[in-house]
Amino acid sequence: MNLIDLHTHSTASDGSFTPRELVALAHKAGLKALALTDHDTIAGLDEALAAGQELGLSVVPGVEISINGDELLGKPASLHVLGLWVDPGHPGLLEGLKTLQAARARRNPLIVAKFNDLGIPLTLEEVAAHAGGQLIGRPHFAQALLERGIVRNRGEAFARYLAAGAAAYVPKYRFEPAKGIALLRAAGGLPVLAHPGMLKLPQFDLESLLRRLMGLGLEGLEALYSEHDTATRLALTRLAARLGLVVSGGSDFHGRPKPEIALGTGLGNLRVPTALLAALRQRRDRVLAVAGGRQQVIMV
Ligand code: AMP
Ligand code: FE
Ligand code: FE
Ligand code: ZN
Repeated sequence: MNLIDLHTHSTASDGSFTPRELVALAHKAGLKALALTDHDTIAGLDEALAAGQELGLSVVPGVEISINGDELLGKPASLHVLGLWVDPGHPGLLEGLKTLQAARARRNPLIVAKFNDLGIPLTLEEVAAHAGGQLIGRPHFAQALLERGIVRNRGEAFARYLAAGAAAYVPKYRFEPAKGIALLRAAGGLPVLAHPGMLKLPQFDLESLLRRLMGLGLEGLEALYSEHDTATRLALTRLAARLGLVVSGGSDFHGRPKPEIALGTGLGNLRVPTALLAALRQRRDRVLAVAGGRQQVIMV
């Protein structure tokens, strides 16, 4: 088997496995490479990289951020962008992620207040306990609701309370597209649009979105994704080739918060070939070389 998974979450964000456990799981599953791409944080990267070294598994340090897609799509929308091979010590990236984490810290009590207004006595402490002291996101609210018996499953928690427009929804602060993509690039990351099929855009609109994002520095497209059906994976792979975007693939494994998604294989039929890794790395080296070149020019 020569498979990889370039989109996963750990306890550093809203996954249920620690970075070390995740790497061990990937190793056991026989994957050749794993990217850790937690939401808004790189706190798990050092541990994942160390575990990768120990087990001889190639670990790609990554991150996933949301950018504001309202203007690009002409309707309320968030776009998720992965940064592959970000430098875990990059000061600008740390600063940017701090901004996003601070925004979450402001948002979480507002979500609690909405639940309290609905007569559900949820507390922030309770939700934080599910987050294990790390970054708090909506999946942790879903878990708290589930344990209180207020909902029967996580899907219901999102549909009734947490999804956009639902009763306890509070929007999340996002960077504007140019800023988010530039932030990832500055930290050496290859910007890849995550799960583009989930946007459910007609081909023409998706293509125009991608062209505009490429103008802002987008380099890759996550054509292979758990929740893309076979036809979508194929169409996106072709579109990427036509536009000059490099193809990526990953499961978006979270562990318990998304129990139906398996590491590597997604809903069962995901296969991300190792060959993609070399193409992605090559593209990343090219992007970095250009960035380095620019820096040199500025220094001269
Ligand atoms: P947040 O970053 O706090 O806004 O939470 C977003 C996360 O919630 C996503 O990354 C998913 O992991 C999860 N999520 C979003 N929608 C759903 C849903 N309908 N069912 C289960 N999990 C979801
Ligand atoms: Fe998530
Ligand atoms: Fe995402
Ligand atoms: Zn994700």
